[in-house]
Amino acid sequence: MRLCLIVPCHNEEEVLPLFTEECAKVFPVLKETYDVDTEFLFVDDGSTDGTLKYLRSYAQSHEGARYISFSRNFGKEAAMYAGICESDADFTGIMDADLQDPPSFLPKMMKAILEEGYDCAAARRSDRKGEPPVRSWFAARFYKIINHATRTHIEEGARDFRIMTRQMTEAVKSMSEYNRFSKGIFSWVGFSTKWIPYENVNRAAGKTKWSFRSLSYYALDGIVGFTVKPLEYAAWIGMAFFLISLIGIIFVIVRKLLFGDPVSGWPSLVCIILFCSGIQLFCTGIIGQYLAKTYIEVKNRPVYIIRETEKNIRK
Ligand code: UDP
Ligand code: MG
Repeated sequence: MRLCLIVPCHNEEEVLPLFTEECAKVFPVLKETYDVDTEFLFVDDGSTDGTLKYLRSYAQSHEGARYISFSRNFGKEAAMYAGICESDADFTGIMDADLQDPPSFLPKMMKAILEEGYDCAAARRSDRKGEPPVRSWFAARFYKIINHATRTHIEEGARDFRIMTRQMTEAVKSMSEYNRFSKGIFSWVGFSTKWIPYENVNRAAGKTKWSFRSLSYYALDGIVGFTVKPLEYAAWIGMAFFLISLIGIIFVIVRKLLFGDPVSGWPSLVCIILFCSGIQLFCTGIIGQYLAKTYIEVKNRPVYIIRETEKNIRK
């Protein structure tokens, strides 16, 4: 049996030698205990440092090691999808290059699949040590919102670090959407997943590519990608305002008939107009988000473009 480990890499030259060294310690364990041959499938996501050079030489000196190099930076989601499309092994794993995903978990994960009958084994952070508190707070809100609004359950602290069976890999591969939110996709396809909790580890070297801003966009992508609830909420807000205005109209008419008092006070009117047009623009914005995603999706552009692989080395 074979296990293919997908490793998305974007400017990871500092940490890759360390990563491959740590993993190499675990591979013999997998071979001995479960008779599983492990191979790497690196995805170089438009790195501008020495990552590609390292991958070339690694693939040449290690039998079975493969790599895909993109024509530019397409993002981690695209890198993971490329790996999933190219993997043909019995089991497919996904692992970050920065050693935040402990290689020592691989045997535990294989055990869950081979002996405990799970289709997938994945890691979940049990804490958020070493992360700014504001970020943790927003992350917690994000999981609350997305799990409330969607039927797809997203495990809090879920990482992309996982091993899947062939069957589940095929299911994920069949989800070829352009706006990808893998945490949601992995859950959406179903199958049984064993969650293995672990304490957060900081990256071994190099630095994270995620800023607060990019994380916010990622969260928004997740919500827009997996639920249309915001559209529903917009409709409900509209309905509520309509009812309030009806009551207001009746109030004004009755007051006029009883007291002959025409409506006075235009400052309050201005406030109401501003408030309502604000809500309208907000709701139009929500619709716009969905429209934009639909627009991008119908263009049907490829999720990634390959420039080089280990079979076709560019000089
Ligand atoms: N990554 C990628 N493309 C990108 C950004 C990141 O392939 O555009 C890879 C990166 O090389 C690493 C993994 O995705 O292997 C996770 O990235 P990072 O450690 O920066 O994210 P964090 O662990 O902070 O969430
Ligand atoms: Mg990381």
